[in-house]
Amino acid sequence: MTSDNSVQVSVLGLGAMGSALAGALVKAGYATTVWNRSPGKADGLVAQGAKGADTAGEAVRAGRVVIACLLDHASVHEVLDPLTHELAGRTLINVTTTTPEQSRKLAAWAADAGIAYLDGGIMAVPPMIGGPGSSILYSGSAEVFHQYKPLLDLWGTSTYFGEDAGLASLYDLALLAGMYVMFAGFVHGAAMVAPAGVTASEFAAMAAPWLTAMTGGFQGFAEVIDGGDYTVEGQQSLAFSDLGDILTASADQGISTEVIGMVQNLIRRQIDAGHGTEGFARIIESIKQPV
Ligand code: NDP
Repeated sequence: MTSDNSVQVSVLGLGAMGSALAGALVKAGYATTVWNRSPGKADGLVAQGAKGADTAGEAVRAGRVVIACLLDHASVHEVLDPLTHELAGRTLINVTTTTPEQSRKLAAWAADAGIAYLDGGIMAVPPMIGGPGSSILYSGSAEVFHQYKPLLDLWGTSTYFGEDAGLASLYDLALLAGMYVMFAGFVHGAAMVAPAGVTASEFAAMAAPWLTAMTGGFQGFAEVIDGGDYTVEGQQSLAFSDLGDILTASADQGISTEVIGMVQNLIRRQIDAGHGTEGFARIIESIKQPV
């Protein structure tokens, strides 16, 4: 395990996230070379002690470890494909957001080229990097993860999921799926109370502690789902969970019922299939069977 900061690191991509990652490396004393497609973005980091590279190739050649923090899968290939030979024998840690399948393809491409590959999914916004609450998910080469864990830990809590390079992305996108549906639920609630003269800020003050408290129910749902028995006692039944009142109240407020309607459809499909007395967690069966 590399326990010191003697390794030469290069960061490709100095958008908001790449700059935050590179900044943490420079602050920790790593010899860091930085490159960005458009000029000017390296200036602040160079002032802090990073070395600016004029081309991606120059940056790759300067780094034992190459961090890619670009926009998407296509931009990663655009930058790295012409540098396959230079990357051979080096370590590539790609924290650009990609789908699981894209991550697996990048891992296969790297394996063919003799590049040690670790894929990362960042569960933080740039100002969180290096601070509490920042978490980065990894999959791909276990050797790379363990060897460079002290470096990775500079950015946040590092969690490794396995050799399948797609796993970090899968977890990342699954967590984001939960987040976006929760955000939509909060915004729907804000839209419901708005016609009554309630500001979104006033509603947020009520919604945040409520939703935080409700996350305490995840584990119970998870145990039912993992056990596969939706009839166990003590659960809120699907029939009891009917969202008709919320749909009616939303329509009465003159707002869209799409967000709540989506959840109601998941419930309804299970009730219609004869499972109304079973637990709410059973909606996962609707999700597992696309219509
Ligand atoms: P930005 O839009 O701030 O930066 C994008 C970076 O990608 C820039 O350096 C840009 O260069 C570069 N880029 C885009 N297309 C190309 C290309 N074709 N060739 C070369 N370089 C290219 O995004 P972020 O820094 O915020 O995000 C970077 C990655 O991190 C993304 O995959 C994002 O999903 C992920 N991420 C970001 C989070 C965030 O909160 N910001 C949170 C979690 C993950 P140029 O300056 O020349 O345009």
